[in-house]
Amino acid sequence: MTSTGNSIGVIGLGEMGRNLVLNIADHGVSVTVFNRTPEKTKDFMEREAKSRPIRAASHLTELITGLRRPRSILMMISAGSAVDDLIDNLLPLLEPGDLLVDGGNSFFRDTDRRERKVSEKGCLYLGLGVSGGGFGARYGPSLMPGGSSQAYERLRPILEIIAARVGGEPCVTYLGRGSAGHYVKMVHNGIEYGLMQLIAEAYHFLKQGLGLTNEELAGLFTRWNETELQGYLLEITARIFLQKDVLSGGQLIDHILDQAGQKGTGRWTSINALELGIPVPTIDLAEMMRSLSGFSEERRNIQGLFREPPRIFQGERKRLIDQLGQALYGAMILTYGQGFALLRKASQVYEYDLDLAEVARIWRGGCIIRAALLEKIVTAYRIDPDLMHLLSDPVLGDEIKSLHQILRRVIKTAIDLAVPLPGLMTSLLYFDSLRSAWLPANLIQAQRDYFGAHTYGRVDRPGIFHTNWERD
Ligand code: NDP
Repeated sequence: MTSTGNSIGVIGLGEMGRNLVLNIADHGVSVTVFNRTPEKTKDFMEREAKSRPIRAASHLTELITGLRRPRSILMMISAGSAVDDLIDNLLPLLEPGDLLVDGGNSFFRDTDRRERKVSEKGCLYLGLGVSGGGFGARYGPSLMPGGSSQAYERLRPILEIIAARVGGEPCVTYLGRGSAGHYVKMVHNGIEYGLMQLIAEAYHFLKQGLGLTNEELAGLFTRWNETELQGYLLEITARIFLQKDVLSGGQLIDHILDQAGQKGTGRWTSINALELGIPVPTIDLAEMMRSLSGFSEERRNIQGLFREPPRIFQGERKRLIDQLGQALYGAMILTYGQGFALLRKASQVYEYDLDLAEVARIWRGGCIIRAALLEKIVTAYRIDPDLMHLLSDPVLGDEIKSLHQILRRVIKTAIDLAVPLPGLMTSLLYFDSLRSAWLPANLIQAQRDYFGAHTYGRVDRPGIFHTNWERD
């Protein structure tokens, strides 16, 4: 393919970097690549670069001097101190007006700090959230850029041609100042944790409580994926159940250890939500369940202490399975609702000025949490950009009115069958708490005032009050 005149340097040829380079080059943009380990560069150039407009640099100086001015450089390396070290090595080589882009999963506060440092040299900085894994990076990811609008405009032509497209529109938009892009990516991952936990619980319920086989599960998830539940995570789940195990026969899912790993982005979401005082309980729960899954020895021992015969559901299975699908959908709405509530608050506190309809729009394609439900979320925020909560939207609110009853029924059955559905249950508790105009926090205030003179407000008059509880 011939060059469009655009050019970019990419540092890092791991899973994401390699695939993004191929995606960029396939759109006619010249790419100069550099990777810390030279063998990886050599291998990439021999096996993948082929006739594309890609050339390799053997050190950073060669990369930088070979790029057209003002330069654009995408860092696609492991998040953390590696990014700081790389910036330290790059800065002496850059000139004012050059653009540095961090496409990794960097912690948003690091992005703000790095932008300040890079701008001291007169350079531009863009914190770019990328979602979609290697496949997305290769054929169209969802891109979440934040930083100065000048930085975004510089890279916009490339971002728009490589991003996934839905309805002809690229899944990328300028999100806001500083760390807005990495913040939105962090919450994306938090929602992803929540959705994965909910889907895993549906699997648990169907396997343990109803005895479904992997083939039956694959069929069911395929059917669910043709309903309002449609989404990438459901789609891959259906495929996972049918994957054969090449090592020992049977199905691979049954040979995978039940211990979930993580790289920390879900935990960052929970910690930041606590800092901002925004409840995201399904995401917290998902994080907690990944930790709990690691206690496999304890779980085995304790199961031995409390062993009892398996309880299998004896009622009408088809009806229960339909209800489970609806319960799952309801809990998913509540999980997206938590993520968007957090984005709304963060947008105010960190002055990102996020357009939540645009956030939902760019999540409809390319990313891991893409789902049919996002269309309704886009519409909800387009109608009312200041929507207090997704549950205040008439369409989604109406859906939850019936779904929460079904969610309740499914949870009751699961409790009787002793199948833990903590994410589904937490989503319901979130809903029940949020729709309680009165919560027992008056008692908590009374206790606080009793032992610590922390004062309280009253329902019948303004002001701050304190009672001497032992004497008055
Ligand atoms: P990989 O582990 O596949 O590759 C890591 C890359 O970082 C390699 O090129 C490696 O170079 C380079 N690197 C690591 N440490 C250093 C260092 N100290 N100095 C210079 N280069 C270094 O990672 P991914 O491609 O999967 O991820 C890259 C970034 O993208 C991460 O921030 C990740 O969180 C994020 N991301 C990943 C997604 C995924 O699905 N994998 C999805 C979305 C974002 P070397 O070959 O020399 O080791």
